[in-house]
Amino acid sequence: MGKEYNTGPMADLTENCLHSEGLMFSSGSEYRCPVCEKSMDLDGVGRWVQDAERSRDEAYSMVEGDGFEEIVREELQREVYRRRSVMYELENVPRVVTARPEMILVIHDAVEASYGCRIFYKEPRPAGVVEQVSVGAVLDRILELRSDPDPVVRLISEKIEEFHVFRSKLSEDGEPAPERRVFYANEL
Ligand SMILES: [Zn+2]
Repeated sequence: MGKEYNTGPMADLTENCLHSEGLMFSSGSEYRCPVCEKSMDLDGVGRWVQDAERSRDEAYSMVEGDGFEEIVREELQREVYRRRSVMYELENVPRVVTARPEMILVIHDAVEASYGCRIFYKEPRPAGVVEQVSVGAVLDRILELRSDPDPVVRLISEKIEEFHVFRSKLSEDGEPAPERRVFYANEL
């Protein structure tokens, strides 16, 4: 490892994806980087933290350098803190959350004949929550979501149904129906 000093202490950090957006729950006990799609388990996340610690330690063990090296060291230290906080967050947020969305945006896609739904949560957003749902613009399909194991999806099914029924009535009356609807926390 020590032989890599020539390439600069940042080299092994910039070579690969830094997972700069953090890691999200994936399937099973895996966590996924939304940028590079790499998946890892919690041990893998631990090793990812250790990689940053090693880079930092290597930089600190170098002979006292100039101001630039100082900046590099601080950056490596910040990276250690950032990775640790990503790991702590994954460790501490329970997998099953009963988070209430703060806002739901439903958009009707006329071309696809479907509804696309985006779900927003209060920050910090709980890990492992559903953020997008799409469903065919047919009542049967929308009602199917009612039996989803995720309570947020069931809630969304109600809201899409409400919007769908509202739009259908307008269409029957020959009125133009709105293509999008926002549901705020007080309507959820
Ligand atoms: Zn990544």
